[in-house]
Amino acid sequence: MNTHFLNGKFVSEEQLVISPRDLGFSRGYAVFDFLKTYPHHRPFKLQEHINRLFNSADLIGLKTPWSKEQVQKWVLETLEVNKSSEEKFIRIFISGGVPKTSNTMFPSECPTIIILVDPAVQYPKEQYENGVGVISVKHKRYSPEAKSNNYIEGVKQTQQAKTIGAVEPIYYSDTQVFEGSNSNLFAVINNKLLTPKTNILLGITRAVLLEIMELSIPIEVKDFTFSDLLQASEAFLTGSGKEITPITSIDGQLVGNGKVGPITKEAIRQFAEYTHSDLWK
Ligand code: PLP
Repeated sequence: MNTHFLNGKFVSEEQLVISPRDLGFSRGYAVFDFLKTYPHHRPFKLQEHINRLFNSADLIGLKTPWSKEQVQKWVLETLEVNKSSEEKFIRIFISGGVPKTSNTMFPSECPTIIILVDPAVQYPKEQYENGVGVISVKHKRYSPEAKSNNYIEGVKQTQQAKTIGAVEPIYYSDTQVFEGSNSNLFAVINNKLLTPKTNILLGITRAVLLEIMELSIPIEVKDFTFSDLLQASEAFLTGSGKEITPITSIDGQLVGNGKVGPITKEAIRQFAEYTHSDLWK
């Protein structure tokens, strides 16, 4: 059984309870971040995830009484009490807490903080070997640089994706492709590897790849359109859980020849080598 952290205490799954009056539940006023550990039990880029969590809170105007160091310490302590042979998924939530007054538009001075630690889930091997399908959805996330708890469109459209055997929606507008519902996007277009620059969550997997990747083609951080994406010879999603997942079809239409391409394979290889190395903390 896993132990989690709730407002200063370690709790069991049964004790992991918050009030429905909490603004995270009643108004969707909350942010979170998600990361995993790599062998052996090292939380990947913990500081970067905590920086982004605090930035997300700032972007939605949610005031936190704790320092980043304090939150980092709680994450490490929660991991320690869960020590076992398996690697973990870690989710850190901060919400507006339970309002003191009957006016439920005002956050509490004591926000809610929750750290969930669960066994890491391995995604199906075939997703990496054969790639996945995605669907396109015209949508822009609210305050895209914030990882707020608003995943309404993502939850809705992931179910829609499943009806055609796809795994995730990717969002776009008339002028730009943004990202997946819970991942960033890369595409090989005209022999360059591109990833959108603006109106996205600044993914930590994306940042790591941009830092470490050495490829035979140029890499550019640049916005592009949905019709550009349909010309891509390769494409992939990046995220802390799914890591690098090849996309082999969009709305049922093949990307390139419909097989996982050499640039994607190389990105997967370099990322795995890095995450399993001592080159990061
Ligand atoms: N974009 C969105 C909307 C996400 O929810 C996520 C997942 O957290 C990402 C991108 C990828 O970010 P990261 O690589 O930090 O997990």
